[in-house]
Amino acid sequence: MRISVITNWAYGVTVVLTVLSGSAFILSATSATRERIAVEEHLALDDLADELALGAEERTDEARLYVMRDDIRHLDAFQGKEGEERRRERAIRSVRDLGAAPIELQALEDVEKNADVLDKIEEEAIAAYRNGDQAGARQTLFGPEHDRLQTALLAAVTRFRDLANARTQSVMHDTQLRSDWWGFIAKTLLAVTAALFLSVLYFILKRRVAMPLMRMTGIVTRLAKQDYAVDVPLDRRRDEIGEMNEAIHIFRENGLERDRLDAERRRDQQTKDLILQMMHRLQACQAQEELAEVVALFSPQIFPDLAGNLYIMNESRSTLSRISSWHEPLRSEPVFPATACWGLRRGRPHVSSHEHGDISCQHLDQSDTMGLCVPLTAQGDVVGLLYFEERPQGHMEAEASRLYLELIAENIGLAAANLQLRDKLTNLSIRDALTGLYNRRSLDEDMNNHARDRELEQLSCMMVDIDHFKRFNDEFGHDAGDEVMRYVAQTILDTIGDAGRAYRFGGEEFTVLLPDISDAEGFDIAERLRSNIRGLALSHRGRILGPISVSIGVGSLTEGAAVSTLLTRADAALLQAKGQGRNRTVMASVLMPEDSKRRGSA
Ligand code: GH3
Ligand code: MG
Ligand code: MG
Repeated sequence: MRISVITNWAYGVTVVLTVLSGSAFILSATSATRERIAVEEHLALDDLADELALGAEERTDEARLYVMRDDIRHLDAFQGKEGEERRRERAIRSVRDLGAAPIELQALEDVEKNADVLDKIEEEAIAAYRNGDQAGARQTLFGPEHDRLQTALLAAVTRFRDLANARTQSVMHDTQLRSDWWGFIAKTLLAVTAALFLSVLYFILKRRVAMPLMRMTGIVTRLAKQDYAVDVPLDRRRDEIGEMNEAIHIFRENGLERDRLDAERRRDQQTKDLILQMMHRLQACQAQEELAEVVALFSPQIFPDLAGNLYIMNESRSTLSRISSWHEPLRSEPVFPATACWGLRRGRPHVSSHEHGDISCQHLDQSDTMGLCVPLTAQGDVVGLLYFEERPQGHMEAEASRLYLELIAENIGLAAANLQLRDKLTNLSIRDALTGLYNRRSLDEDMNNHARDRELEQLSCMMVDIDHFKRFNDEFGHDAGDEVMRYVAQTILDTIGDAGRAYRFGGEEFTVLLPDISDAEGFDIAERLRSNIRGLALSHRGRILGPISVSIGVGSLTEGAAVSTLLTRADAALLQAKGQGRNRTVMASVLMPEDSKRRGSA
């Protein structure tokens, strides 16, 4: 019940009880007044009875004394008592007015009648005495008739007094009882009012207001300090305190919600910051390895609940290979054909999950873990794939995260495509398009580097020239010539392996630099290369091209010469090999000085 209802009720009941109590007091006071009037009446009637008895006796005494002593003063006194008689009559009238009972009036009338008869006898006796009949007068006043009348008069007075006493006593008793009863009721009502007031005061102030308010003060203080962990017990009371409690409850709920939203916003901001950092670093990547490292470093920070792989499409655009991984994903293969992924086939993110009722990619195993494939595309070309899967206790969030995933995928795709483009451009600038070998510019750069390298102790150099190459062009066409060129280049690569680098020097001439290779070792490699080239027969469009041979000049730093002269000396050796009949290897150590000069000036 609401406190206002309780207080209104309490106020109403208190007012009613107070009015009742006041009325009872008034009734009690009225009864007390009636009792007082009854007492006064009782006393008045008592006095009147005394007066009646005494008046009659005194008059008789004066009459008797007069006839006995013949003293005129007694006669005067007797006659003076006649006024007494009139007073008595007035008193009797007033008794009547007081509302005396008929039986009392009857007794009074008896008194009056007896008194009148007695007065008449005594007046007649006085008159007889004054007329000289003294004996008769004495006889009359002291005779038995007079005694009888006087006794009857006194008996009537006594009777009147008894009756009046009985009535007034009863009235007094009644009024006293009533007064006491109303007094008791008034006091009881007053006590009930006081008790009600005090209990309402206690109940409302202490139980319903003070105690809950004190409890709420503590809660509100903690809430004001944004301590939303405070427990707000649900108070189902339908009153102002209950409403306040509910308001505090809602305030706390709002605070918690605000906190949650704040935390979400902070998390979101943190995610955005991380994504931004990742983007900046992706843009600065100079190699695919760096890209792989950046993705593997930032992805687990941005999505702590997800494990993942980064795949890059190979040059033939048929296979994807994993280049980085984080949080150990379990489902996806490290290498798989592009056709095995529904995401790549559809060109959009694909969720592989039995739970979601969608088909699973073939590069995933059959477990129930949710997997998400996001294709990495740039300018319409698929360059790779970003794969995510839920960690054991993790949870893949809905749309917001999906947007971030796509944003990240877009940026990784662009970065990967940029790197591939950059690699392509670099290759174009440093490699020869026909043979795939490094070009002349790269050779110059490497030679300069070797010249600056103070720790370099050994460096051998081969100058390789295809013998009578023009013949292939002339007899079989330019394409056949190109084929021979590619074949020789590949054989050079196969023969030197990791021992050195091969360059296309120009035309059908190649250079090989072999760091840390002595002149003797260099010569052996040259001989092996020469025999490898010589060993294979090449055909073009079904026509045998005939034997291919090369002449090789080998130079070396071990001769104590400067790096800058190495190429010139090897070239001179090559010239010498050509001069000696081709298909041979010549060491620069046996170089003729005049040949060298001729070649250098050519
Ligand atoms: P030698 O044994 O003295 O070296 O004779 P050679 O015919 O190999 O040498 P020559 O300098 O007379 O001829 C080189 C020819 O190579 C001339 C040129 O047309 C040809 N050539 C240069 N670059 C290419 C190329 O990229 N493709 C093709 N098919 N031919 C080329
Ligand atoms: Mg040649
Ligand atoms: Mg040549």
